[in-house]
Amino acid sequence: MNKKNILLVEDSLLSSEIISASLTENGYKVEIVSTGELAVEKAYSSSQIDLIVMDIELAGCMNGVDAARKILESMDIPIIFLTGNASNAIFHKLISVQAYGFVLKGVGEIPLLSTIGMAFSLHEEKKQTKIYNDKLKKAHEELEASRKEYLELSENAPVGILKCDNYGNIIFVNQAALEILGSPSIEETKKINMLTFSPLVRCKLSTQLKKCMLDNIHGIYEMNYESKWGKKTYIRLHIKPFTDHYNTNGAQLIIDDITENKHLEEKLRKLSLTDPLTNVYNRRYFIEKLEEELDRIQRQGRGTFSIALLDIDHFKSINDCFGHHAGDFILIKLTETINNQIRKIDCLARWGGEEFIILFPHTKLEVATLLTEELRNNISKMDTSIASKITASIGVVEYCAGETVDSIIQRADNMMYEAKNAGRDCVRMS
Ligand code: GH3
Ligand code: MG
Ligand code: MG
Repeated sequence: MNKKNILLVEDSLLSSEIISASLTENGYKVEIVSTGELAVEKAYSSSQIDLIVMDIELAGCMNGVDAARKILESMDIPIIFLTGNASNAIFHKLISVQAYGFVLKGVGEIPLLSTIGMAFSLHEEKKQTKIYNDKLKKAHEELEASRKEYLELSENAPVGILKCDNYGNIIFVNQAALEILGSPSIEETKKINMLTFSPLVRCKLSTQLKKCMLDNIHGIYEMNYESKWGKKTYIRLHIKPFTDHYNTNGAQLIIDDITENKHLEEKLRKLSLTDPLTNVYNRRYFIEKLEEELDRIQRQGRGTFSIALLDIDHFKSINDCFGHHAGDFILIKLTETINNQIRKIDCLARWGGEEFIILFPHTKLEVATLLTEELRNNISKMDTSIASKITASIGVVEYCAGETVDSIIQRADNMMYEAKNAGRDCVRMS
């Protein structure tokens, strides 16, 4: 093991020889200087001084305390003082230069050796503490930098981000969230409490948020929301609680404005369910609607409905006489006439070609027949400025207990053919 280097600053030849011999005997390498000035010079010029044993009263202009102060200005070397006088004044002086200890001269080598040993341990500990503190400081700085980076990212993220604490108080809201909500400022937004603000309670978001925080689970919700500032948007919310080791401290909400997607979705759905020529519903939608109606009645065990199947008479000859475009025009005109007469709850669909079907919910056969008869009459009086008269044959049926979609439509079809066979331009029912 490398020997530790001790610089002994002592102007008394006798004393320095005794101390030096004792230190050397105990495994230290010793260099001796006799003045404060030389001690400073030595400390600054040598990189190999591990500890200084410094006499206070020295021969030169600079005493031991001043020399120590000068050395410690830019070096970190433990210093032990030697003194023949243990007065309070000296003690305070030594404290002011952060001495590692002081030893009375002439009390033998043991106090000096043990003080040196303790000074080395203390100095090593100080060094380790400094390394640890430096590391801690660096970690804090890194944490702070990444916190800042995260905050900047959140503030400028292209999706809305909102954070609330356990009690529903908003603690963070970014720019995109303000825009989605149409909010004028962060301060205004923070006035809202996510768990008690009545529009949020009404649309059940508050309940969902509470549940996510209580059970520590994620949630995704979509809602059509009108904000406090009157902005109407379809929003998709991702709720993610944040926790320390044991407790939920709040939640982060990612807010997506999906208004455009929703409108597009609705448009596409409408397109997939309507007939492009007449704009009335198509067969697929009608069957869905009929299934819903059957389900409802069968679930409730009561209620009824009727349907009417309508086929234009001799439509082929209209196409033949006036052309396909004229035929199309008549189909559009016919749906307008029907739509003008049926009730809001009724549902008209194009069943195919020149056949149309109508659902009359909660309607008994007698009422449906009256409505259909009136419809037939209106169609026959329709002014198309193409053909002199357009007529239709219509079959009407009311739901019978236990019936299926197919069977009820089959019965309506049968009735429609009966109307055809009866000479057309009439209604037949069962
Ligand atoms: P009926 O009184 O027995 O029902 O005679 P109809 O001529 O109406 O019956 P048919 O089934 O013989 O002919 C139906 C015609 O409807 C034939 C077809 O070209 C026409 N049609 C079907 N869809 C359209 C359409 O979208 N536009 C036009 N213009 N014609 C159509
Ligand atoms: Mg037909
Ligand atoms: Mg026809």
